[in-house]
Amino acid sequence: MENNSLLEFDKKHIWHPYTSATHPLECFMVKEAHGVTLTLDNGQKLIDGMSSWWSVIHGYNHPVLNEALKKQTDQMAHVMFGGLTHQPAIELAQQLLSVVPKGLEHIFYCDSGSVAVEVAMKMALQFWHASGKGHKNTFVTVRKGYHGDTWHAMSVCDPDTGMHHIFNDKLPRQFFLSAPKSKFHQAFQEDELIEAEEFLKKNAVNIAAFILEPIVQGAGGMRFYHPEYLKGIKALCEKYQILLIADEIATGFGRTGKLFACEHARITPDIMCLGKAITGGYMSFAATLCTQKVATTISSGPPGVFMHGPTFMGNPLAASLALASINLLLESDWPQNISRIEKHLQQNLSKLQKLDAVKDVRVLGAIGVVEMQEPVDMPVITKKFVEKGIWMRPFGKLVYTMPPFVISDDELSKLTNGIFSVIETLYGNGK
Ligand SMILES: *Cc1c(COP(=O)(O)O)cnc(C)c1O
Repeated sequence: MENNSLLEFDKKHIWHPYTSATHPLECFMVKEAHGVTLTLDNGQKLIDGMSSWWSVIHGYNHPVLNEALKKQTDQMAHVMFGGLTHQPAIELAQQLLSVVPKGLEHIFYCDSGSVAVEVAMKMALQFWHASGKGHKNTFVTVRKGYHGDTWHAMSVCDPDTGMHHIFNDKLPRQFFLSAPKSKFHQAFQEDELIEAEEFLKKNAVNIAAFILEPIVQGAGGMRFYHPEYLKGIKALCEKYQILLIADEIATGFGRTGKLFACEHARITPDIMCLGKAITGGYMSFAATLCTQKVATTISSGPPGVFMHGPTFMGNPLAASLALASINLLLESDWPQNISRIEKHLQQNLSKLQKLDAVKDVRVLGAIGVVEMQEPVDMPVITKKFVEKGIWMRPFGKLVYTMPPFVISDDELSKLTNGIFSVIETLYGNGK
């Protein structure tokens, strides 16, 4: 088929994320990708500002990851995890448990970020069930959060910005506190924790866990909050005996300047979710980790076992890729590299602050956010970005980038110049 008729077929028959089947936004066909460059089927090259949704940290078509995948394919692509185990799963667990916050000692492999969140929530419920406190069966979270698209994950997404409000009356009812207010780079407002404390004092008897994204609230608003807030929530969870679930799916593996965002607050959650960048963006894979206490309590029953077991649990291809990707990251001088990207984003995106149409520009680690006063016109702005040779996928009022860590200074300049000039052209007012 001609490429135009392929696109025509795509438009007619294939769902894309959060897209209409009858009036889908235009899709661009990618032919290949190397490093930080996507090559479209018409030959046009785009610098990727999105890392394919936070995941492709080492760039596309990385020789080391390609080799890990090929080598494992020749050994075995998959084998069930019930009753069987294998070296990739074991070596990955050894590596992961040696780098995550101290105290996380058990690991559950699963298929995607949303499933990792479901697993985490199930762990929390089983923990209290096994403790004879089955009444502790709801969750508390903060507004502006995002935890995935499956059922219980949806129930803890922000009811307004979380993209799931039409399901609100069908979802399990959870509790929402105000979004954290103190910003990462500003002073901490001590009175911020009063609401959480009052809530927990009254309701902890029915709460299984507090779930939140550490430091960076991603798809629910791209907000960076103060480490003292996270520290305070951790202390309150201990005081009122509820579990803390840290959803590190977007933040894990260096993105915020720490290997895991929990490190900004020097805390260990009871349960932690990893995903997105875990395989360097090669395939869907995730993990839910927990402390010894959570694991042994669940296993002391009833029912004495953890009730979850995906078909593709611990998939050897994904586990080999994850191990290779983490090793690549740890062998690089990633803190210095993230700080290089951070400085560039700060210097170049902050120039947009002068436009009236821009509400806020903020940068943390390898994440740059331009928050507009009004929602952007997606099809229009996306096309402009493509014309400038960059790939961006804004949503609502948020134009943001989290480039692959391997991006060079020249490529970064092309990316930030593109962002600057498109926003200035479309929304500038000559001020
Ligand atoms: C993307 C994301 C998820 C969901 O992961 P999927 O792999 O898309 O299911 C969950 N939590 C956070 C914080 C995320 O950014």
